Amino acid sequence: MQLFATVETMGHEQVVFFHSPSNGLKAIVAIHDTTLGPALGGLRMWPYASEDEALRDVLRLSRGMTYKAAVSGLNLGGGKAVLIGDPADKNEAMFRALGRFIDSLGGRYITAEDVNTNVQDMDYIFQETNHVVGVHPVHGGSGDPSPFTAYGTVRGIEASLNWKFGHSDLSKASYAVQGVGHVGFHVVRALCESGAKVFVTDMNAERVQQCVELGAEAVGMEDIYDVEATVFVPCALGAVVNEDTIPRFKFEIVAGAANNQLANDACGDELDRRGIVYAPDYAINAGGLMNVAIELQGYDRERAMRMVSTIYNNIENIFRFAERDGIPTWRAADRVAEERIASLGTVKMPHVRQSANRLDGRDRK
Ligand code: NAD
Repeated sequence: MQLFATVETMGHEQVVFFHSPSNGLKAIVAIHDTTLGPALGGLRMWPYASEDEALRDVLRLSRGMTYKAAVSGLNLGGGKAVLIGDPADKNEAMFRALGRFIDSLGGRYITAEDVNTNVQDMDYIFQETNHVVGVHPVHGGSGDPSPFTAYGTVRGIEASLNWKFGHSDLSKASYAVQGVGHVGFHVVRALCESGAKVFVTDMNAERVQQCVELGAEAVGMEDIYDVEATVFVPCALGAVVNEDTIPRFKFEIVAGAANNQLANDACGDELDRRGIVYAPDYAINAGGLMNVAIELQGYDRERAMRMVSTIYNNIENIFRFAERDGIPTWRAADRVAEERIASLGTVKMPHVRQSANRLDGRDRK
Protein backbone atom coordinates (compact mmCIF):
# COMPACT_ATOMS: atom_id res chain seq x y z
CA MET A 1 0.00 0.00 0.00
CA GLN A 2 1.15 3.55 -0.73
CA LEU A 3 0.74 4.54 2.91
CA PHE A 4 1.43 8.28 2.71
CA ALA A 5 -0.75 8.72 -0.36
CA THR A 6 -3.59 6.71 1.19
CA VAL A 7 -3.43 8.58 4.45
CA GLU A 8 -3.45 11.87 2.58
CA THR A 9 -6.54 10.86 0.60
CA MET A 10 -8.41 9.50 3.60
CA GLY A 11 -7.40 12.39 5.84
CA HIS A 12 -5.75 10.57 8.76
CA GLU A 13 -3.74 12.56 11.28
CA GLN A 14 -1.54 9.78 12.60
CA VAL A 15 -0.88 6.07 12.10
CA VAL A 16 1.25 4.30 14.70
CA PHE A 17 2.73 0.80 14.55
CA PHE A 18 3.42 -1.00 17.82
CA HIS A 19 5.54 -4.13 18.09
CA SER A 20 6.46 -6.08 21.20
CA PRO A 21 8.07 -9.39 20.07
CA SER A 22 8.34 -10.90 23.57
CA ASN A 23 4.55 -11.29 23.84
CA GLY A 24 3.54 -11.36 20.18
CA LEU A 25 2.00 -7.91 20.06
CA LYS A 26 1.69 -6.42 16.60
CA ALA A 27 -0.76 -3.57 16.54
CA ILE A 28 -1.65 -0.54 14.45
CA VAL A 29 -3.47 2.49 15.85
CA ALA A 30 -4.99 4.91 13.35
CA ILE A 31 -6.09 8.34 14.51
CA HIS A 32 -8.27 9.76 11.80
CA ASP A 33 -9.47 13.12 13.08
CA THR A 34 -9.34 14.82 16.47
CA THR A 35 -11.09 18.07 15.54
CA LEU A 36 -14.02 17.33 17.86
CA GLY A 37 -12.08 15.60 20.63
CA PRO A 38 -9.83 12.64 21.37
CA ALA A 39 -10.11 9.79 18.90
CA LEU A 40 -12.19 6.98 20.37
CA GLY A 41 -12.62 3.60 18.73
CA GLY A 42 -12.44 -0.07 19.54
CA LEU A 43 -9.54 -2.49 19.49
CA ARG A 44 -10.16 -5.32 17.03
CA MET A 45 -8.13 -8.53 17.12
CA TRP A 46 -8.09 -10.46 13.85
CA PRO A 47 -5.81 -13.00 12.12
CA TYR A 48 -5.27 -10.74 9.12
CA ALA A 49 -3.81 -12.51 6.10
CA SER A 50 -1.35 -9.67 5.58
CA GLU A 51 -0.16 -6.47 7.21
CA ASP A 52 -1.61 -4.55 4.27
CA GLU A 53 -5.03 -6.00 5.02
CA ALA A 54 -4.74 -4.96 8.68
CA LEU A 55 -3.68 -1.48 7.68
CA ARG A 56 -6.54 -1.10 5.23
CA ASP A 57 -9.00 -2.23 7.91
CA VAL A 58 -7.74 0.15 10.59
CA LEU A 59 -7.70 3.11 8.20
CA ARG A 60 -11.26 2.40 7.05
CA LEU A 61 -12.64 1.73 10.53
CA SER A 62 -11.01 4.76 12.15
CA ARG A 63 -12.43 7.04 9.48
CA GLY A 64 -15.86 5.52 10.11
CA MET A 65 -15.54 6.37 13.81
CA THR A 66 -14.94 10.04 12.99
CA TYR A 67 -18.24 10.15 11.11
CA LYS A 68 -20.11 8.17 13.74
CA ALA A 69 -19.00 10.41 16.61
CA ALA A 70 -19.63 13.58 14.61
CA VAL A 71 -23.13 12.65 13.45
CA SER A 72 -24.00 11.59 17.01
CA GLY A 73 -23.19 14.99 18.47
CA LEU A 74 -20.27 13.66 20.51
CA ASN A 75 -17.15 15.65 21.33
CA LEU A 76 -14.97 12.85 20.10
CA GLY A 77 -12.80 12.17 17.11
CA GLY A 78 -12.34 8.92 15.23
CA GLY A 79 -9.72 6.28 15.83
CA LYS A 80 -9.31 2.52 15.83
CA ALA A 81 -6.74 -0.08 16.73
CA VAL A 82 -6.12 -3.50 15.23
CA LEU A 83 -4.18 -6.26 16.85
CA ILE A 84 -2.81 -8.69 14.28
CA GLY A 85 -3.09 -12.28 15.46
CA ASP A 86 -5.24 -15.24 16.39
CA PRO A 87 -7.56 -14.46 19.33
CA ALA A 88 -6.58 -17.89 20.73
CA ASP A 89 -3.08 -16.46 21.35
CA LYS A 90 -4.27 -13.57 23.52
CA ASN A 91 -2.31 -12.99 26.71
CA GLU A 92 -2.17 -10.45 29.51
CA ALA A 93 1.33 -9.19 28.61
CA MET A 94 0.16 -8.37 25.09
CA PHE A 95 -2.62 -6.08 26.33
CA ARG A 96 -0.45 -4.54 29.05
CA ALA A 97 2.21 -3.75 26.43
CA LEU A 98 -0.44 -2.23 24.19
CA GLY A 99 -1.72 -0.23 27.18
CA ARG A 100 1.71 1.32 27.61
CA PHE A 101 1.89 2.14 23.92
CA ILE A 102 -1.58 3.73 24.02
CA ASP A 103 -0.49 5.73 27.06
CA SER A 104 2.41 7.12 25.03
CA LEU A 105 -0.14 8.75 22.71
CA GLY A 106 -1.05 11.06 25.58
CA GLY A 107 -4.82 10.72 25.31
CA ARG A 108 -5.11 11.43 21.60
CA TYR A 109 -6.51 7.89 21.24
CA ILE A 110 -8.91 6.16 23.66
CA THR A 111 -9.48 2.47 23.12
CA ALA A 112 -12.49 0.21 23.78
CA GLU A 113 -13.57 -3.36 23.10
CA ASP A 114 -14.44 -4.54 19.60
CA VAL A 115 -14.45 -7.78 17.64
CA ASN A 116 -12.51 -10.48 19.57
CA THR A 117 -11.63 -8.25 22.53
CA ASN A 118 -13.56 -8.04 25.78
CA VAL A 119 -13.88 -6.36 29.17
CA GLN A 120 -11.05 -8.47 30.60
CA ASP A 121 -8.71 -7.26 27.86
CA MET A 122 -9.75 -3.66 28.55
CA ASP A 123 -9.03 -4.20 32.24
CA TYR A 124 -5.47 -5.32 31.36
CA ILE A 125 -5.01 -2.18 29.27
CA PHE A 126 -6.42 -0.11 32.14
CA GLN A 127 -3.57 -1.36 34.33
CA GLU A 128 -1.24 0.69 32.14
CA THR A 129 -3.26 3.65 30.91
CA ASN A 130 -6.36 5.70 31.64
CA HIS A 131 -7.10 6.02 27.96
CA VAL A 132 -9.48 3.08 27.77
CA VAL A 133 -13.26 2.77 28.18
CA GLY A 134 -15.49 -0.27 28.47
CA VAL A 135 -13.60 -1.47 31.53
CA HIS A 136 -15.35 -3.54 34.19
CA PRO A 137 -18.06 -1.66 36.15
CA VAL A 138 -15.96 -1.93 39.35
CA HIS A 139 -13.46 0.37 37.65
CA GLY A 140 -16.20 2.81 36.58
CA GLY A 141 -16.94 1.06 33.31
CA SER A 142 -20.29 0.97 31.59
CA GLY A 143 -20.73 -2.78 31.00
CA ASP A 144 -22.41 -4.41 28.01
CA PRO A 145 -23.21 -1.77 25.34
CA SER A 146 -25.80 -3.92 23.52
CA PRO A 147 -28.95 -2.79 25.41
CA PHE A 148 -27.97 0.82 24.67
CA THR A 149 -27.39 0.09 21.02
CA ALA A 150 -30.80 -1.60 20.97
CA TYR A 151 -32.53 1.32 22.69
CA GLY A 152 -30.95 3.75 20.22
CA THR A 153 -32.09 1.57 17.35
CA VAL A 154 -35.66 1.63 18.63
CA ARG A 155 -35.48 5.44 18.92
CA GLY A 156 -34.23 5.54 15.34
CA ILE A 157 -37.12 3.33 14.22
CA GLU A 158 -39.53 5.74 15.93
CA ALA A 159 -37.96 8.70 14.10
CA SER A 160 -38.21 6.80 10.80
CA LEU A 161 -41.90 5.99 11.39
CA ASN A 162 -42.58 9.61 12.17
CA TRP A 163 -40.82 10.75 9.02
CA LYS A 164 -42.70 8.29 6.82
CA PHE A 165 -46.13 8.18 8.46
CA GLY A 166 -46.33 11.22 10.76
CA HIS A 167 -46.43 9.18 13.98
CA SER A 168 -43.84 7.34 16.04
CA ASP A 169 -46.17 4.69 17.47
CA LEU A 170 -44.25 1.39 17.27
CA SER A 171 -47.43 -0.65 17.60
CA LYS A 172 -48.88 0.70 14.34
CA ALA A 173 -46.17 -0.90 12.19
CA SER A 174 -44.84 -4.41 11.63
CA TYR A 175 -41.21 -5.51 11.66
CA ALA A 176 -38.83 -8.04 10.14
CA VAL A 177 -35.84 -8.43 12.44
CA GLN A 178 -32.79 -10.21 11.01
CA GLY A 179 -30.49 -11.46 13.78
CA VAL A 180 -31.62 -11.66 17.39
CA GLY A 181 -28.27 -11.69 19.19
CA HIS A 182 -27.08 -9.20 21.78
CA VAL A 183 -28.70 -6.21 20.11
CA GLY A 184 -31.51 -7.77 18.06
CA PHE A 185 -33.06 -9.56 21.02
CA HIS A 186 -33.49 -6.32 22.99
CA VAL A 187 -34.97 -4.64 19.93
CA VAL A 188 -37.46 -7.49 19.50
CA ARG A 189 -38.44 -7.27 23.14
CA ALA A 190 -39.20 -3.54 22.85
CA LEU A 191 -41.18 -4.08 19.65
CA CYS A 192 -43.16 -7.00 21.09
CA GLU A 193 -43.89 -5.02 24.26
CA SER A 194 -45.45 -2.30 22.09
CA GLY A 195 -47.90 -4.91 20.79
CA ALA A 196 -46.58 -4.77 17.22
CA LYS A 197 -46.40 -7.70 14.80
CA VAL A 198 -42.78 -8.86 14.73
CA PHE A 199 -41.11 -11.44 12.44
CA VAL A 200 -37.69 -12.73 13.40
CA THR A 201 -34.97 -14.89 11.91
CA ASP A 202 -31.63 -16.19 13.15
CA MET A 203 -29.50 -19.29 12.61
CA ASN A 204 -29.54 -19.76 16.37
CA ALA A 205 -32.78 -21.66 17.08
CA GLU A 206 -32.62 -21.04 20.82
CA ARG A 207 -32.54 -17.28 20.35
CA VAL A 208 -35.42 -17.45 17.89
CA GLN A 209 -37.41 -19.47 20.41
CA GLN A 210 -36.83 -16.80 23.07
CA CYS A 211 -38.32 -14.24 20.69
CA VAL A 212 -41.28 -16.50 19.88
CA GLU A 213 -41.97 -16.63 23.62
CA LEU A 214 -42.16 -12.83 23.55
CA GLY A 215 -44.81 -13.03 20.81
CA ALA A 216 -42.70 -12.84 17.64
CA GLU A 217 -43.20 -15.10 14.61
CA ALA A 218 -40.22 -17.06 13.28
CA VAL A 219 -39.41 -17.08 9.56
CA GLY A 220 -36.63 -18.75 7.55
CA MET A 221 -33.29 -17.00 7.11
CA GLU A 222 -33.78 -16.44 3.39
CA ASP A 223 -37.48 -15.61 3.77
CA ILE A 224 -36.91 -12.53 5.89
CA TYR A 225 -36.39 -10.36 2.79
CA ASP A 226 -39.86 -11.26 1.45
CA VAL A 227 -41.82 -10.65 4.65
CA GLU A 228 -44.74 -8.24 4.33
CA ALA A 229 -43.69 -5.87 7.09
CA THR A 230 -43.33 -2.11 7.34
CA VAL A 231 -39.79 -2.02 8.71
CA PHE A 232 -36.75 -4.16 7.92
CA VAL A 233 -34.49 -4.25 11.00
CA PRO A 234 -31.07 -5.74 10.11
CA CYS A 235 -29.25 -6.72 13.32
CA ALA A 236 -26.87 -9.39 12.04
CA LEU A 237 -24.58 -8.96 9.05
CA GLY A 238 -23.40 -6.25 6.71
CA ALA A 239 -24.27 -5.91 2.99
CA VAL A 240 -27.79 -7.34 3.41
CA VAL A 241 -29.27 -4.43 1.47
CA ASN A 242 -27.99 -5.33 -1.98
CA GLU A 243 -28.93 -5.74 -5.65
CA ASP A 244 -30.51 -9.16 -4.96
CA THR A 245 -32.51 -8.27 -1.85
CA ILE A 246 -33.84 -4.79 -2.65
CA PRO A 247 -36.18 -5.94 -5.48
CA ARG A 248 -37.79 -8.32 -2.96
CA PHE A 249 -38.50 -5.62 -0.35
CA LYS A 250 -42.06 -4.73 0.51
CA PHE A 251 -40.65 -2.72 3.41
CA GLU A 252 -41.16 1.02 3.61
CA ILE A 253 -38.34 1.61 6.09
CA VAL A 254 -34.90 0.06 6.66
CA ALA A 255 -33.73 0.83 10.21
CA GLY A 256 -31.50 -1.57 12.13
CA ALA A 257 -28.31 -1.90 14.15
CA ALA A 258 -26.07 -3.91 11.81
CA ASN A 259 -22.92 -2.21 10.55
CA ASN A 260 -22.41 -1.54 6.82
CA GLN A 261 -25.92 -2.59 5.79
CA LEU A 262 -25.63 -1.20 2.27
CA ALA A 263 -23.59 -3.41 -0.06
CA ASN A 264 -22.54 -0.21 -1.82
CA ASP A 265 -23.59 3.42 -2.21
CA ALA A 266 -25.75 2.63 -5.24
CA CYS A 267 -27.95 0.45 -3.00
CA GLY A 268 -28.56 3.47 -0.78
CA ASP A 269 -29.50 5.46 -3.87
CA GLU A 270 -31.85 2.66 -4.96
CA LEU A 271 -33.68 2.65 -1.63
CA ASP A 272 -34.15 6.39 -2.02
CA ARG A 273 -35.43 5.97 -5.58
CA ARG A 274 -38.01 3.44 -4.36
CA GLY A 275 -39.15 5.76 -1.57
CA ILE A 276 -37.87 3.40 1.15
CA VAL A 277 -36.71 5.43 4.14
CA TYR A 278 -33.21 4.39 5.20
CA ALA A 279 -31.93 5.29 8.68
CA PRO A 280 -28.13 5.38 8.15
CA ASP A 281 -26.53 2.52 10.08
CA TYR A 282 -23.72 4.36 11.78
CA ALA A 283 -26.12 6.99 13.13
CA ILE A 284 -28.87 4.64 14.35
CA ASN A 285 -26.45 2.16 15.97
CA ALA A 286 -24.40 4.75 17.90
CA GLY A 287 -25.97 3.91 21.29
CA GLY A 288 -23.04 1.74 22.34
CA LEU A 289 -20.55 4.47 21.48
CA MET A 290 -22.61 7.07 23.36
CA ASN A 291 -22.71 4.77 26.37
CA VAL A 292 -18.92 4.41 26.58
CA ALA A 293 -18.51 8.13 25.84
CA ILE A 294 -20.38 8.83 29.08
CA GLU A 295 -17.58 6.98 30.90
CA LEU A 296 -15.33 9.88 29.99
CA GLN A 297 -17.42 12.09 32.27
CA GLY A 298 -17.91 9.56 35.07
CA TYR A 299 -20.36 6.83 34.15
CA ASP A 300 -24.03 7.43 34.87
CA ARG A 301 -26.57 5.03 33.37
CA GLU A 302 -29.42 7.54 33.34
CA ARG A 303 -27.35 10.12 31.53
CA ALA A 304 -26.32 7.44 29.05
CA MET A 305 -29.98 6.57 28.38
CA ARG A 306 -30.84 10.25 27.88
CA MET A 307 -28.03 10.66 25.43
CA VAL A 308 -28.94 7.50 23.52
CA SER A 309 -32.51 8.77 23.29
CA THR A 310 -31.22 11.69 21.17
CA ILE A 311 -30.66 9.24 18.33
CA TYR A 312 -34.29 10.07 17.47
CA ASN A 313 -33.25 13.69 16.84
CA ASN A 314 -30.05 12.72 15.04
CA ILE A 315 -31.95 10.52 12.59
CA GLU A 316 -34.63 13.18 12.08
CA ASN A 317 -31.92 15.75 11.44
CA ILE A 318 -30.38 13.54 8.75
CA PHE A 319 -33.78 13.06 7.07
CA ARG A 320 -34.36 16.83 7.08
CA PHE A 321 -30.92 17.46 5.63
CA ALA A 322 -31.54 14.86 2.91
CA GLU A 323 -34.89 16.43 2.02
CA ARG A 324 -33.48 19.95 1.98
CA ASP A 325 -30.58 19.03 -0.32
CA GLY A 326 -32.47 16.44 -2.38
CA ILE A 327 -29.95 13.69 -1.59
CA PRO A 328 -30.27 10.13 -0.24
CA THR A 329 -30.07 9.75 3.53
CA TRP A 330 -26.81 7.78 3.50
CA ARG A 331 -25.13 10.73 1.81
CA ALA A 332 -26.85 13.23 4.09
CA ALA A 333 -25.44 11.47 7.17
CA ASP A 334 -21.90 11.93 5.82
CA ARG A 335 -22.57 15.58 5.10
CA VAL A 336 -24.08 16.27 8.53
CA ALA A 337 -20.90 14.80 10.06
CA GLU A 338 -18.58 16.73 7.74
CA GLU A 339 -20.42 20.02 8.34
CA ARG A 340 -20.25 19.59 12.10
CA ILE A 341 -16.52 18.92 11.98
CA ALA A 342 -15.94 21.88 9.65
CA SER A 343 -18.04 24.30 11.71
CA LEU A 344 -16.64 23.26 15.09
CA GLY A 345 -13.11 23.02 13.74
CA THR A 346 -12.66 26.73 14.27
CA VAL A 347 -13.97 26.68 17.89
CA LYS A 348 -11.68 26.08 20.84
CA MET A 349 -12.64 22.86 22.69
CA PRO A 350 -11.39 23.02 26.29
CA HIS A 351 -13.48 19.96 27.25
CA VAL A 352 -11.06 17.70 25.36
CA ARG A 353 -8.53 18.00 28.14
CA GLN A 354 -11.29 17.80 30.77
CA SER A 355 -12.38 14.40 29.44
CA ALA A 356 -8.92 13.00 29.92
CA ASN A 357 -8.75 14.46 33.42
CA ARG A 358 -11.96 12.75 34.44
CA LEU A 359 -10.63 9.42 33.23
CA ASP A 360 -7.68 9.94 35.55
CA GLY A 361 -9.93 9.67 38.62
CA ARG A 362 -10.94 6.01 38.19
CA ASP A 363 -10.06 3.39 40.71
CA ARG A 364 -7.76 0.63 39.46
CA LYS A 365 -8.35 -1.74 42.39
P1 NAD B 1 -24.39 -10.90 17.90
O1 NAD B 1 -23.30 -11.71 17.33
O2 NAD B 1 -24.68 -10.98 19.35
O3 NAD B 1 -25.75 -11.17 17.13
C1 NAD B 1 -25.82 -11.36 15.76
C2 NAD B 1 -26.88 -12.43 15.52
O4 NAD B 1 -27.08 -12.54 14.12
C3 NAD B 1 -26.48 -13.81 16.04
O5 NAD B 1 -27.52 -14.33 16.85
C4 NAD B 1 -26.28 -14.64 14.76
O6 NAD B 1 -26.63 -15.99 14.93
C5 NAD B 1 -27.22 -13.93 13.82
N1 NAD B 1 -26.93 -14.12 12.41
C6 NAD B 1 -25.72 -14.21 11.80
N2 NAD B 1 -25.89 -14.40 10.48
C7 NAD B 1 -27.21 -14.39 10.25
C8 NAD B 1 -28.02 -14.51 9.09
N3 NAD B 1 -27.47 -14.69 7.88
N4 NAD B 1 -29.36 -14.46 9.21
C9 NAD B 1 -29.92 -14.28 10.43
N5 NAD B 1 -29.22 -14.17 11.55
C10 NAD B 1 -27.88 -14.23 11.47
O7 NAD B 1 -24.03 -9.37 17.48
P2 NAD B 1 -24.67 -8.05 18.10
O8 NAD B 1 -23.75 -7.51 19.13
O9 NAD B 1 -26.11 -8.27 18.41
O10 NAD B 1 -24.54 -7.07 16.86
C11 NAD B 1 -25.42 -7.18 15.75
C12 NAD B 1 -25.02 -6.17 14.67
O11 NAD B 1 -25.06 -4.85 15.22
C13 NAD B 1 -23.62 -6.36 14.12
O12 NAD B 1 -23.62 -5.99 12.77
C14 NAD B 1 -22.80 -5.37 14.93
O13 NAD B 1 -21.63 -4.97 14.24
C15 NAD B 1 -23.78 -4.23 15.07
N6 NAD B 1 -23.52 -3.36 16.22
C16 NAD B 1 -23.54 -3.88 17.48
C17 NAD B 1 -23.30 -3.04 18.56
C18 NAD B 1 -23.35 -3.57 19.98
O14 NAD B 1 -23.45 -2.75 20.92
N7 NAD B 1 -23.32 -4.87 20.20
C19 NAD B 1 -23.04 -1.67 18.36
C20 NAD B 1 -23.05 -1.18 17.04
C21 NAD B 1 -23.29 -2.04 15.98
